[in-house]
Amino acid sequence: MKIVQIASEVAPLAKTGGLADVAGSLSTALAGLGIETTVFMPQYRTVIEKCEEVVPVMMEPLKLKLGNQAREARLVRTSLPGTDVRVYLVRSDPFFYRDGYYVDPTSGRDYGDNCERFAFFCQAALSAVEALDLEPDIIHSHDWQTGLVPLYLKTLHAGRAGLGRGKSVFTIHNMAYQGKFPQECMDFLGVGREYYNWKQLESYGELCLLKGGLVFADGLTTVSPTYARQIQTQEFGRGLDGVMRERSGDLRGIINGLDDAEWNPDGDPHLPARFSARNLSGKRKCKERLQKEMALFPSAGTPIIGMVGRMVEQKGFDLLLQCVDDLMTMDLQLVVLGGGDERWLADAFAAKANSFRGRFSFYYGFDEGFAHRIYAGSDALLVPSRFEPCGLTQLCAMRYATIPIVHRTGGLADTVTDYSPELLTAGKCNGFCFDGFDKSAFLGAVRRALDIYKDSRSWQRMAEICATKDVSWNRSATEYKALYEELLKR
Ligand code: ADP
Repeated sequence: MKIVQIASEVAPLAKTGGLADVAGSLSTALAGLGIETTVFMPQYRTVIEKCEEVVPVMMEPLKLKLGNQAREARLVRTSLPGTDVRVYLVRSDPFFYRDGYYVDPTSGRDYGDNCERFAFFCQAALSAVEALDLEPDIIHSHDWQTGLVPLYLKTLHAGRAGLGRGKSVFTIHNMAYQGKFPQECMDFLGVGREYYNWKQLESYGELCLLKGGLVFADGLTTVSPTYARQIQTQEFGRGLDGVMRERSGDLRGIINGLDDAEWNPDGDPHLPARFSARNLSGKRKCKERLQKEMALFPSAGTPIIGMVGRMVEQKGFDLLLQCVDDLMTMDLQLVVLGGGDERWLADAFAAKANSFRGRFSFYYGFDEGFAHRIYAGSDALLVPSRFEPCGLTQLCAMRYATIPIVHRTGGLADTVTDYSPELLTAGKCNGFCFDGFDKSAFLGAVRRALDIYKDSRSWQRMAEICATKDVSWNRSATEYKALYEELLKR
């Protein structure tokens, strides 16, 4: 079987969040199952320096038309670092040679030409598949940036040579990001205005690129079974729940996995000491180093509770902020790593951390090494997301024998089983869950965790359950493979 993956970010070459992790590690895992996998992504300014080797391909640029504008795309071939998975970078300096991927870092605003940029990327990727004669069985695209791929396969690129059987799969990583633009942007898409209607590309008076994927893909997936159910409801569907209900027969929820090469406490170059599920002793050293690095009081017996994420409304940093004063009355240390563009929230966190020096540390920015050290050195990890399609941070925590404390929603509900003495004896619980997105539910879960922390045997037992849970791609990649095979039989 031959698969093409098309995504706007692919780890480790470009990453702002979980989408990149999935695009990168799913591709590697599929290749491991013997599936020939080729990846397409844009060549942003900072990508080349992360590549091991780059080879230009095709002397002549691909010639495209975006509305009535002629555009050119060049292609560069590389591979996912440390693997044989082939990656083609779509190069267009006017569109992609910039400091941000979607947002201008100086203004904090989305780039004004995002619709044009990603319509271009979708067309360029499909034209490249044709020009390279890849003949894929499945073309798998992800999120709003590549929502036009399934539409183009049924319109502009229908029946073209080089596209093989070209069945399309579209994965929703987050329904909250829909790629909505004014109606005038239809002019850039290259398909007729007749597609701008409420059954196809229009959503509440705007052009919606995500909807292109939802309506036109042959198969749809999202990143957990619970989120697959939730997005069919008004509460979580963000205006697209009707489409999701209509397509529920084609929708599947497949939990994400972690790339074992990146997330392995037994071989992680970011850590001061290594450890494994069988021998957790190195974790103590990681904790000690984290306390030092984050200027927390050295104290082996005080539980460290960590949190890592993008500082956006979804992730519940605001709920944590409301709870900091209460948390600081408890016997714990708090370490928070938050990235993103919400400066006011970062300032509020920095001010709080300043008033609880030695017990609460906050670092603003995106720092992968630091994230690894927080997963490894903490005892518990908070994931108080309002909603969470899958969530990777709770999986990273578990891999590093750190117990997650989560809001029971989406993929968090599917991956974390709440503590009870009976389930612990049976080896079946791996965290603490709270229902209801509010302060008292959140603090209640933290208090329950702290109670168990005092019973070090139970805590140790639960940490071992976390560390031995299979959070790798093996199972999920097999599910994707089964879905591809099923679509090819249709
Ligand atoms: P989302 O995709 O919504 O951002 P996920 O939980 O699916 O959330 O994935 C987040 C990924 O990004 C994880 O690998 C996490 O470690 C990483 N991450 C998030 N914030 C940061 C940060 N500030 N610094 C480093 N890594 C981060």
